[in-house]
Amino acid sequence: MTFRMVPLGVGDAFTARHYSTSLALVVGAPSREEIWLLDCPHPIQKMLLEAARASGEPLEPSRVRGVILTHLHGDHASGLEGLAYWMRFHQQRKLELVVHPQVLARLWEGHLAAGMEQLMLSIDGPTVPMSLGDYFEVTPLRDDGPIVVGAVAVEGRRTIHHVPTYAMRVRAEGRTLGHSADTAFDPSLIEWLAEADLVVHETNHGTHTPYERLAALPAELRAKMRLVHYPDEFDVEASVIEALREGGVYRI
Ligand SMILES: [Zn+2]
Repeated sequence: MTFRMVPLGVGDAFTARHYSTSLALVVGAPSREEIWLLDCPHPIQKMLLEAARASGEPLEPSRVRGVILTHLHGDHASGLEGLAYWMRFHQQRKLELVVHPQVLARLWEGHLAAGMEQLMLSIDGPTVPMSLGDYFEVTPLRDDGPIVVGAVAVEGRRTIHHVPTYAMRVRAEGRTLGHSADTAFDPSLIEWLAEADLVVHETNHGTHTPYERLAALPAELRAKMRLVHYPDEFDVEASVIEALREGGVYRI
């Protein structure tokens, strides 16, 4: 039985040293392992390839079942168009998508439609109209409990961020991963995440969560917390909370 996490990216929207934050989750029985991406920034194919080489994990894009999407900022969602097109043209299937209705509401018209709403099925044929459902199989998150899709059960909780954003608890194989997504420091969110076996929390400047607030949390909580979405100048070695590394393998 398996629930492993490989960070594909650990940086923020402005990173020049890393990729933007994205986590690959490898879940399920060995013969039926499936991969879920927790957020999907560009260049997701290159991120998967480099993380696969570094980790030795089977992160071929053909094994990706779907994406659990926290919000629509480009450093979290800019890889959706390319990955969905690749699934359609190379795999002849739709990309599964787990997303809260508040985020889903703007996903097509506000983010994807301009590049995906028309398709030439042949070079001399007409352009046909396309919609979200032609590329994605969507499972909306619920506010009253987890949804189950494939080998994972997923719950979302709204965070404090510019646009609708959802922290996630992902349960598989009897273990739970918590991920803060982008958020201001929010003790009630941290309490919600603390039920998980491993908590991935963002830290950054401005409206994000200051490192100092996380560093002041109780030691037992810090021990199961890992940092992500940190700025390039963040001192990983000096951090009292372990920072995630791209291409590392973390057992949940
Ligand atoms: Zn954001």
